[in-house]
Amino acid sequence: MAQGRIRKLIRIPPVSLTEFALIDRIRARSRGGDGIVLGIGDDAALLQPLAGHWLAVTADTLNSGVHFPPETLPADIGWKTLAVNLSDLAAMGAAPAWGTLALSLPHADAAWVDAFADGFFALADAHGWRLIGGDTTRGPLSLSVTAFGQVPHGRALRRDGAQVGDDIWVSGTLGDAAGALKLWQDNGLDVTRPAADADVEFLRQRLLRPTPRVELGLALQGIASAAVDISDGLLADLGHIAAGSAVGADVDATRVPLSGPLRAVLGMAGAQACALSGGDDYELCFTAAPGRREDLQRVSARLGLRLTCVGQTTAGSGVSTGRDDPGAGYQHFA
Ligand code: ADP
Ligand code: MG
Repeated sequence: MAQGRIRKLIRIPPVSLTEFALIDRIRARSRGGDGIVLGIGDDAALLQPLAGHWLAVTADTLNSGVHFPPETLPADIGWKTLAVNLSDLAAMGAAPAWGTLALSLPHADAAWVDAFADGFFALADAHGWRLIGGDTTRGPLSLSVTAFGQVPHGRALRRDGAQVGDDIWVSGTLGDAAGALKLWQDNGLDVTRPAADADVEFLRQRLLRPTPRVELGLALQGIASAAVDISDGLLADLGHIAAGSAVGADVDATRVPLSGPLRAVLGMAGAQACALSGGDDYELCFTAAPGRREDLQRVSARLGLRLTCVGQTTAGSGVSTGRDDPGAGYQHFA
């Protein structure tokens, strides 16, 4: 950490007295695991990747007031900080392995760090993802994770593999998180406590505790031709596959899966707008040859996860949402 020298030069009192105590609190929650030669505590961690695998590496930062409402509870921030990164690994078809956590905190607040760790490690432990290092500094509230995953050579799900005539699929339901955010902006949602209305509470959970589709990403190895996670909205993120694969994408907006709560709270038109253009759902969007429909039906059944075909790739470019040929074979598995 280069800050040490600058502190000495200008005599800023070190954060470190409390900083080390905070690191110890986090370290106490971390676990050992496969491939960790040396974890938290030295100048760098030492890792041994699996033979025959590539490392998938991703980083995502959440800033208070930008990526989550400032009043969001620390446990929810902890969950989401890791969830957005595991979602990127899922979209590559990679198995979560290890990662680092950079914390910028306005105050050395042990209770805040403990609550943050509750959410963060609940998700980490559920996926066998191990924290192997990080950085702790004083500053505006900001959380940054660098996550490593492993994927067998040649099996990663990239954005550039879609072929003309592939089906376009999405997991789960879309627009729920954007619906919750809209409610919050309209002062209709308190993110700090459960909502009395069950539909609103469902949407609140979808915003605060997104489920990274890790098992789906792994199951799609060898089936999907391309994949992204939906962080910025279906149309925007599918646009990355279209551009990366040099294909067009025709989406039938009426096929986009909407949850009952989203329709109940926002109505059909509002729900559809959130589903097409709202971000933060962290579902997967992927393409697959039509010959893979039965494979996908089996994956859907095994994972208990809805998979919906929402369109087809074309020889054009960009993403369009015109009504498609009704005989195009849309399917939806639950
Ligand atoms: P250095 O000054 O050598 O960079 P630090 O004092 O910043 O080391 O960190 C000491 C150890 O604690 C390192 O192993 C580092 O990876 C780990 N660490 C620091 N902050 C965090 C954090 N927020 N989460 C996990 N590990 C951390
Ligand atoms: Mg060092």
